[in-house]
Amino acid sequence: MSSERRIEKLTASDDELARHLEDAQLPALLLATSHLTGDPAVLDGAPVPVQGLMAGPQGGFDEVQIADARARCFEALKKWRDAGCPEPPRPSEAGLRRLLSFVVEEARLDETLPFLLDELSLDGADTRAPQWNKAEIAPDRDFRVAIIGAGMSGICAAIRLQQAGVPFTIFEKSDDVGGTWHDNVYPGCRVDVSNHFYSYSFAQGFEWPQLFSTQPVLLEYFQHVAEAFGLREHICFGTEVKRAVFDETSGEWALELESDGRAESVGAQLLVSGMGQLNRPRLPEIEGMGDFQGPAFHSARWDRDVDLAGKKVAVIGTGASACQFIPIVAEQASELTVLQRTPPWLLPTEEYHEEVPSGLQWLYRHVPLYAEWYRFWLFWSTAEGLLETVEVEEGWEGTPGSVGPLNEEVRQLLLGYLKEATGGDNILLEKMTPAYPPFSKRFVRDNGILPRTFARDDVTLETTEIDRLTEAGIRLSDGREVEADVIVYGTGFTASDFLMPLEVVGRDGRKLHEHWAGDARAYLGITLPHFPNLFLLYGPNTNIVVNGSIIFFTECEVDYLLASIEMLLREGKVAMDCKPGVHDAYNDRIDADNLRRAWGAATVNTWYKNQHGRVSQNWPYGLIDYWKQTRKVDSADYELL
Ligand code: NAP
Repeated sequence: MSSERRIEKLTASDDELARHLEDAQLPALLLATSHLTGDPAVLDGAPVPVQGLMAGPQGGFDEVQIADARARCFEALKKWRDAGCPEPPRPSEAGLRRLLSFVVEEARLDETLPFLLDELSLDGADTRAPQWNKAEIAPDRDFRVAIIGAGMSGICAAIRLQQAGVPFTIFEKSDDVGGTWHDNVYPGCRVDVSNHFYSYSFAQGFEWPQLFSTQPVLLEYFQHVAEAFGLREHICFGTEVKRAVFDETSGEWALELESDGRAESVGAQLLVSGMGQLNRPRLPEIEGMGDFQGPAFHSARWDRDVDLAGKKVAVIGTGASACQFIPIVAEQASELTVLQRTPPWLLPTEEYHEEVPSGLQWLYRHVPLYAEWYRFWLFWSTAEGLLETVEVEEGWEGTPGSVGPLNEEVRQLLLGYLKEATGGDNILLEKMTPAYPPFSKRFVRDNGILPRTFARDDVTLETTEIDRLTEAGIRLSDGREVEADVIVYGTGFTASDFLMPLEVVGRDGRKLHEHWAGDARAYLGITLPHFPNLFLLYGPNTNIVVNGSIIFFTECEVDYLLASIEMLLREGKVAMDCKPGVHDAYNDRIDADNLRRAWGAATVNTWYKNQHGRVSQNWPYGLIDYWKQTRKVDSADYELL
């Protein structure tokens, strides 16, 4: 895979062009066409797309607006083709502002413009690549980085370190790259963020076959990125980092590894955790777990040797993972019982399981800048635009199922969808209707398949509490027995146990997990006092709820990592230790603002909160805010050793 997109000359006839445009996502195409042709008139008087959950890929356009937008793009592209497909003009800052103002309100243009230039590489350059090289700024310095994990985050860090000429090694306990996309092989596993956004900004050449790709495709993407950037030779597979100790005298991290049962040790000047959060399965604490005689396994450890065909299957949980495999298990099992404790909010997504339409594929290949603007549109419409729908309004006297007027509006839309999707089955509707505000928990995308599955005669959605497991299945609190040949736990992960089970020892012999005491915190989710030169990727409070791509966050974290290394090398410092005051003030702000979001205010059970009830996962602001805060390192935030 090349990291650059191949663009072919547009030679399609008028009829072919018109046919391809049938599949276009028009808000992005309007922007791309205006940019490409250098003609601002494409946007003059054009229908303006809206952001929002239910606006869908066409930005809420009605039929007339769709026809108008399509006709504008058609005419402009035809002219551009007939002129011989000239190179897109390099737009001036004023030109870009004008393009952006089509969808971004005036007050946000100043902050959005630099973000856009950085994130989209509109001129084809990877502007986020480090603009420095160790060979130039510190040629003689011994500075090696150890990265734990070859998943999405570890790969990203490795690529940027390689570009900066900083030696690194990745230690990966599995036998391949991919992290969560390597481990989760349950049937139906796919990403619930559009792939053109859930992908590295610098590796956009991949031709995604689906709008929301399946696990094998995602694994292939990460494998291809690792190959394309020559990372494999830097990865020690089958190697687990067991312990990491910071030596204050040498300023080095001493790592104890285990590989094939053998212990080894290595040193590194800087340690990066790319260990992820959603990789340690959480098995429920239910009495009698050892009594059940049949096969039982967790969704992230799917047992492919167990044939579910013709079996009675019980699934515990209705989170994002379970809701993906339940429809497929229902097709195989003779009977399926789903044990639900809390229903998820379903986010209607008609195109969830669809292939990328051929016209859209064609546009990526023949209309320069379409893919870039499409990525921006996904970002803007689905991520940045939704934050206000989770804001808690002080003194809100609406229903307890919402936290403010916009949140209530969303709730009504989602309720409407549920009513329609359950087709008049009021018992099912009641079971599937959440009592908590939308976005206090992770939503589940649905194209109608989940309500249809629960409505099947051979599927039961059971909402009575589980009492215990028995030899033959599950006993409910009302005494009824659910017979099962196989039990599948879709019960999630111990997400708040950051960096477990790694033992990390920082300055003065301080042990990380004792220091955190079950309440992991970090400055920007990345660094923390007493643990110099330890950088966390996908650390505390860097999770997103409304929408957006965790890859976006990782890229920001990696930018910060590289800026930090550059600072250390340029200033001839050994290590950087986050100042406690900076860390604490930051965390106070995060905590206060999380309480002003649906997930902080709601009392519903969720993995966003840790054992202390603190929201330890979520970032309470917009994505651009995180990008702004991680672009530069302020040396005043650190004690430099
Ligand atoms: P999860 O969201 O934590 O869901 C766990 C489910 O198990 C919940 O329904 C929970 O009920 C239930 N549960 C836990 N213990 C139980 C017990 N003792 N008795 C009955 N039910 C019990 O885990 P997940 O579905 O694996 O998803 C975790 C996260 O991974 C997601 O939120 C998402 O961020 C990510 N993910 C993403 C994708 C994707 O991109 N496509 C797919 C899968 C997962 P309660 O709600 O009552 O606690």
